[in-house]
Amino acid sequence: MPFTFANINNRSALVQGEAFFDLATITDGAVSTDAMEAILNSDLLHQYAAQLGDYEPSGIIEKKDLCAPIPRPRNSFGVGLNYQLHVEEAASKTPSTPMVFTKFPSCISGPNDDVIMRSDECDYEGELLVVIGRDGKDIKADEAWSYVLGLSVGQDFSDRGVQYKDQPAQFNLGKSFDTFGPTGPYLVSLDSFSNPDDLMITTTVNGEARQNDRTSNMIFSIPTLISYLSSITSLAAGDIIFSGTPEGVGFRNGSFLKDGDIVETTIEGIGTMQNKCVRGKDFNETHAET
Ligand code: ZN
Repeated sequence: MPFTFANINNRSALVQGEAFFDLATITDGAVSTDAMEAILNSDLLHQYAAQLGDYEPSGIIEKKDLCAPIPRPRNSFGVGLNYQLHVEEAASKTPSTPMVFTKFPSCISGPNDDVIMRSDECDYEGELLVVIGRDGKDIKADEAWSYVLGLSVGQDFSDRGVQYKDQPAQFNLGKSFDTFGPTGPYLVSLDSFSNPDDLMITTTVNGEARQNDRTSNMIFSIPTLISYLSSITSLAAGDIIFSGTPEGVGFRNGSFLKDGDIVETTIEGIGTMQNKCVRGKDFNETHAET
């Protein structure tokens, strides 16, 4: 039975429509309040999702209460240049192997949290977020989906000034300012999707369409990414992969996010995140220039 998992005020929950069911409550403590613990027992999540009709909802979901469904991933991978039209708008060469970087786990934030921009060169990247469900190493591509617990939405916010200031580029830090990793609103179990390789993904800024593509246009598919990553580093339950962004990012034509901008990111079958961009103190004012 498919499930939709949410982290509501730092308590694990299952979702049905607009209602949520607090997992520790309905399971008498069998499922942890902590999302990182709760997802380790996915059999119970599937089982309780099938019998939600037996329980009273704990409440109606309010956007402000939604936290990152995977709040403390052990590893948080990003994939650059994984859609051909984005490769072209970035004036880059098509990679022959996945181009992987780190979004440090400390940047992970909730689906409706503000994004604090520390310069005037910040940009959005809507992405499908893959959540690993069980530990694995040297995973074959044709078995890779069985290692996926479910899918979510991610925004790979990026400070292009930091990222491209020098050669070689500085992806890890440019994409890891605090708050630069909104995720959510839900973790939707893999068995909810008839074709998890082909999902519509859209990003809007202040209601204006900026990105609109299908995940089937990835250069390296999710199974290929998992197989490649796991040939180098073991994967663990709760690891997350930001799987790359389609074309339509701002920096291709020098248009960056401004204070007060609203970025909305939607993937079919998962939901929508809405993040307000807030201009914080310039990071250049707080470190010594060399
Ligand atoms: Zn990205």
